Formats: sequence, C-alpha cells, structure tokens
Amino acid sequence: MKSAIISVGTELLMGQIVDTNAVYLSTELRSLGIDVNYRYTVGDNDARLREILDLALKDVDLIITIGGLGPTEDDMTKETVCDYFGEKLVMSKKVKTDLIRHAAAHSYTLTENVYKQAMVPENGTVFYNGAGMAPGIAVEKDGKTAVMLPGPPRELKTMFNDSVRDYLKKFSGGSIYYKVIKIFGRGESSVETDLLDLIDTQTDPTIATYAKEGECTVRVASKRATVEEAEAAVMPVVNEIVRREGDHVYSIDDEELMDVVGKKLEADRISISCCESCTGGMFAEYLTTVPGISDVFERGIVTYTYRAKEEELGVDHDTLQICTAVAPEVAQQMAEGLYKKTGSDVCISVTGIAGPSGAMPGKPVGLAYIGCAYKGETTVTKVLARNLSRQWNRRYFTLAMFDIVNRKLDGRKIPESY
Ligand code: AMP
Ligand code: MG
Repeated sequence: MKSAIISVGTELLMGQIVDTNAVYLSTELRSLGIDVNYRYTVGDNDARLREILDLALKDVDLIITIGGLGPTEDDMTKETVCDYFGEKLVMSKKVKTDLIRHAAAHSYTLTENVYKQAMVPENGTVFYNGAGMAPGIAVEKDGKTAVMLPGPPRELKTMFNDSVRDYLKKFSGGSIYYKVIKIFGRGESSVETDLLDLIDTQTDPTIATYAKEGECTVRVASKRATVEEAEAAVMPVVNEIVRREGDHVYSIDDEELMDVVGKKLEADRISISCCESCTGGMFAEYLTTVPGISDVFERGIVTYTYRAKEEELGVDHDTLQICTAVAPEVAQQMAEGLYKKTGSDVCISVTGIAGPSGAMPGKPVGLAYIGCAYKGETTVTKVLARNLSRQWNRRYFTLAMFDIVNRKLDGRKIPESY
C-alpha cells in the first residue's frame, strides 16, 4: 500500500518547530510494510489542504495527517478532511465524556471551544487520546483512507502505540524486517566505499547508510510475505557488512555505544570511574543514561585546571608545566591517579582541546588523549576529532572513550589513534 504523510501547521512552514512527527511516522509505517511515497507540509488553511488532498490521493490510497485537531480556531484538519470525504461531523457523547473526565483529572476549566474536539464523523473510527484531549480519526471512502493524528508528539506516539498501529495493519503489504548496524571510528564515505558493490546492486534487501554525529549507521531492510522470509533475506547481508567493517561495528541492533558498554559493565559487575577535562562530565552524563549503572559507576571527576589535575589525581606538577595538559603523559597520570584514588576496575581519563581557541604548535583543536587503566595496564590513545564545532569535538572524544572501554572489555585491540 502506498501512503502519504501530510503535516498540517503554519508553524512548521515558518520553521518554528521541526517535523519530528513525520520522521516518527515514516519509521513506523516502514516497519508495518506501508510505503511512504510522499510527505507534504501545508499551513492551517482549508483551501490549500484540499489542494494537497487532491494531489496526494491521485496517487496513494492512504493519507495520514498530523496536527490541527485541537480546539482553537486555526485547527481545521478534521473539518476539512471529513468534508472532503463527504462525512458529516456529529457530537460524540463518549468523546465528550472523555474530555470532561480528562479536564477534571488535570484541573482544566472546560471552555466551550473544547467540545469541538468531541465532533466526530458519523461513519469513521475514533482513536482515544491517552495523553491529551483531541481524539484521532479515520475515515474511508471509495477505497481511500484518511487517518488524522494529533500534533503534540507525545499524544501522537501514545495514540499510535495504543491503537493506530493495529488499525493500520490491514494496509500492510507484506512484512518488514530490518537491522541497524552501528559503526564507530570509520566515516560514512569510507563505509559507503566498502559497501559500494552491495549498495549498487540492491533492490531487496535495501541498504542505507547515514552518518550521525561521529557514528555511522547502516540499515538493512527487506519486505517479504512473512517476517521470517524478510529476516532470512536480511541476515546474510548484515553478516557480510559486519565481516567487512570488522570490529568497527559495535551493534547490529541499533543500540547506543554507551548502552552496549553499560550492559557489559553491569553484566560482569566491572566498576568504572572517569576523570574528564575537555568533555566536562559528558562521559559521566552519557554513562548515567544507562539504567542500573549505579551498580558499577563509582565516580566521575571533572578536573579542568592544572591545579584540579594535581589535587584530585596527583598529576605531577612538572609534567604539566613541561608537557601542558594536552599530552599523553598527562592522560596516563590522570588515569593512574584515578585508579589510586578509587580502585575501580576501569579508570578512564581524557584531556584535549575542544576549541575553538586553545590550539598550540603541534596541538590542533580537536586533539585529545585518552588514558585507560584496566587490568594493571594503562593505555593512552590519541584522538583527532574533525573539529566541526566545540560540541562535536567533545562528543567525539566522549564516544572514543566509550569505544576504548568497549574494546578493553572484549579484549580487543585499541586502534593507535582515532
Ligand atoms: P496542532 O494540533 O496543529 O495545534 O499542534 C499542536 C502542537 O503539536 C504544536 O504546537 C506543535 O508543538 C506540535 N506539533 C504539531 N505538528 C507537529 C509535527 N508535525 N511534529 C512535531 N510537533 C508537532
Ligand atoms: Mg496547529
């Protein structure tokens, strides 16, 4: 089945909000085996929305609209689409009761315009809004279907998961299976070159690479009659990609690097501490996004100044004076000092130049050294980030720290540099 997503809202056209809902829906529809052939964005305007409906329904049988279901005057999606589909709106006692109950539970005063949301088509499907007020609606006519979903992302997702996904299953033209391979330490263009012959000849499974802030992601997807057949088509391609990308691959299940590391630490009850200079606590912040990490995360120290590095970690005064803070010797002493202090199984340190200023002769912005003390041995690894921005550098350093820990836990080799 071919579909189109129509995002309705003048604020989208003005650039005031980003259309995260359309991205979410594209992903969900794909996993249902529904093709998204078009995505339109249109303002809160009856005539222009009708033009888009004309255009979209010429080619697709399913449209999904986002937004414009609320109580205010500019919300007109439901009125326009239902009229277009020849559906009269009537007051739903059930929805009205839901609205009154929702308002009471959240101590809202119900103004008269709120009841606009209780108007539903005589013949149609109503989706309960488990996270807000406006219900979703589906109408069908002459083999064409329109599904209308609310704009607030939390409401849209809740409704999709509660009922819309089940409703849409009847449009699924087969079953999709996909894997998302995550790669660190190799750029998107290199990965694409490695896989060029596979990408060039693809029809099904499809292979798509995209770069995400220092990481590279490869999605392999297949649509077949059954999930089992799709999986059987996907897995050999995944295995081939993993073979080619070697140990740059850290997940084939779309996981984040910190989750992969966090789970390994937790599973083997390996304790960890970190001391950070240029990342200012980002490693600790990422690590603490992993549920249950308190079992193994001992401490994180931000040691920005020379004094902090000396006082907290016992870094040698003269080393700092001679080598400056961004030096392999300092990264090593930081990691070893942290080990003396905490006794944690893994002690990781970072010192570098996040920029935009701070470059020194032979030490460009984007340079960092990562020390890692583990099992009686301390390694120091040089990192050179692409220096796209201060934030980019800090994130890249942080990911490199996770990659190093990940490799150490697996007993794999650490690259000479990143
Ligand atoms: P609406 O139902 O059009 O009044 O939208 C309500 C709110 O939902 C808007 O103020 C936005 O903050 C949000 N919203 C609407 N459409 C989208 C969208 N396509 N993606 C993300 N947020 C949206
Ligand atoms: Mg709106």
